[in-house]
Amino acid sequence: MQNNRVKFLRDELNKLGYYYYVLDNPLVSDYEYDKLYSELRELEEKNPELITPDSPTQRVGGINSGFYEIKHKYRLYSLDNTYNYEELRKWYERIEKECGNNIKLVCELKIDGLAVALAYKDGIFVKGATRGNGIVGEEITQNLKTIKAIPLKLFENADVEVRGEIYMPKTSFEKLNDENLTKGEKLFANPRNAAAGSLRQLDSTITAKRDLSMFTYTAIIERAQEIPTTHWESLQYIKKLGFKTNPNIRLVDNIDGAIDFCKEWETKRFDLDYATDGVVIKVDSIACQKELGFTARAPKWATAFKFPPEEISTKLLDIEIGVGKTGAITPVAILEPVLLAGSTVSRASLHNFDEIKRLDIRIGDRVLIKKAAEIIPKVIKVVETPEHEKLPHYTLPTKCPECDSNLEFREGEVNLYCTNEKCPSVIKAKLEYWVSKEAMDIDFIGPSAIEQLYSLGLVESPLDFYKLKMEDLLKLDLVKEKSAQNMYNSIQESKKRPFSRFVTALSIRHVGKETADIIVSEYPSLKLLSSASVEDLSKIDGIGDKIARSVYEYFQNSENQKMLRQFENLGLIFENNVTQKTKELDGKTFVLTGTLSSMTRDEAGDRIKQRGGRLSSSVSKKTSYLVVGDNPGSKLDKAQNLGVIILNEEDFLRMINEV
Ligand SMILES: [Zn+2]
Repeated sequence: MQNNRVKFLRDELNKLGYYYYVLDNPLVSDYEYDKLYSELRELEEKNPELITPDSPTQRVGGINSGFYEIKHKYRLYSLDNTYNYEELRKWYERIEKECGNNIKLVCELKIDGLAVALAYKDGIFVKGATRGNGIVGEEITQNLKTIKAIPLKLFENADVEVRGEIYMPKTSFEKLNDENLTKGEKLFANPRNAAAGSLRQLDSTITAKRDLSMFTYTAIIERAQEIPTTHWESLQYIKKLGFKTNPNIRLVDNIDGAIDFCKEWETKRFDLDYATDGVVIKVDSIACQKELGFTARAPKWATAFKFPPEEISTKLLDIEIGVGKTGAITPVAILEPVLLAGSTVSRASLHNFDEIKRLDIRIGDRVLIKKAAEIIPKVIKVVETPEHEKLPHYTLPTKCPECDSNLEFREGEVNLYCTNEKCPSVIKAKLEYWVSKEAMDIDFIGPSAIEQLYSLGLVESPLDFYKLKMEDLLKLDLVKEKSAQNMYNSIQESKKRPFSRFVTALSIRHVGKETADIIVSEYPSLKLLSSASVEDLSKIDGIGDKIARSVYEYFQNSENQKMLRQFENLGLIFENNVTQKTKELDGKTFVLTGTLSSMTRDEAGDRIKQRGGRLSSSVSKKTSYLVVGDNPGSKLDKAQNLGVIILNEEDFLRMINEV
């Protein structure tokens, strides 16, 4: 009797979930759903033997003991891509040459998310993994189960492996970032990063709380009632099995139809609640796909058209100048507000004064601004207009906007600097950096508190933070007992930050967070670091002469030495008791070959070492991965012979989570 009721509830809830999350067409209210759900959970608690893997109660998640690598049963290939319609035509010509004329194509939006592979056995979801490098991925079944658009049971007892793209809707992304901002937690750069971060949670109850969804776009059918003969049919079949597919797909007769689809979505994509970065175009006939086959990295029967980066022109109203923590003067473009990629932009980066001169940017010009994936927009060039020549040339500022001191260029640098060491802007910028997440991470003290502490003469150097008493903090506007206590506690708390954070916080010239991490991994205490010579320092991988000299000079300066002694007396810790390295690549040996486009090989090596991996100069049986850039050497052949896993740059960046 109870068995029947449990089965009924399970099927009913799965059906309701399907209508809600896959078809976007809720049949009942949340209240009705919750009532049925609670009944099922209670019955299952009393009769645990009645729980099945496809029960909706199995979506709540739990703690993963770690993520394990698994080899994909079927390789996940990359796609060749282009920004260019001419190249699309050439691709199509090659296809016509092989398979005859009038080859039909299927156009699908390329979702900017994370690719995953899901295996179903007898219609039940059994295993899911990240794409990884296409050959090896990480098993994340438990986390995937929490995503309600992923069916736990199909409408048919089929054996299939599907590929889909996990994404976070733009609105959910904004909501999540809003919440994180209020809680003082880390903000995600874009929806894809947020989806990636959510998917790789060890605690999958966190994944369950994030609003993730999945569009399924490919199925490899091992056993099923139908074996589709075209890609279009297979998309319909995927839908019939119970998966969510993207509705914006089109079957076209030839490449012209595909190009029309791309042009249409170049602008329409901004109305969608998920990010897309292009269009995937596939040959429809599966027989023809088989005839075309694969290159080493990608199928010949599919390609991706990438949307151009987002650009728009507007009027440059003014150039504002600000002062950074090094005293560098930075120009900012003040623009006539304009809508770009769904948000209003009124300020943009101008990089530096050299760039203004090089581009001959004048106030009053029409300028082209560009935004690439949620990054601060940049001015990229002047739009030629008859007015341009009539406008006066931009003249460099000569005085600091804050303290009116003279500005000067430093040798070998493109930036202008304020010459006043006690410039209030510089001091405040340094203090703000000191408390930032990246440096000492002092909560509850933001720019406005710093402004007040500075103008009251309470804090003029980071040292002063640690001398503040409760009564000092209570002098700030709107600060009551409780928030003063919070501020005080977080200052005290920050004394325990690892040494590398402290080195970052010092704002030593040319030393940002990453550089500080590298230096401290070699010199893990103040004693060791302050006695290192320029020569010692420049021997560290990834540290050049310029950085080495700057670090050396900093620790030789007697004023700085005095300050460091005071910090020590105030109880700050000058030893890295916890290693800054992470362990993601622990036990893995990497070899690099060829030229990478996004970083030098040294930088790639640093990234590997920072994550606990090892670097070797030659390929052997012990090599875990060979990272291949352009024009690889003989290492590639050797790795192929030994069966070493080969990663292209994109695979590598994904592995170290930098895309
Ligand atoms: Zn100044």
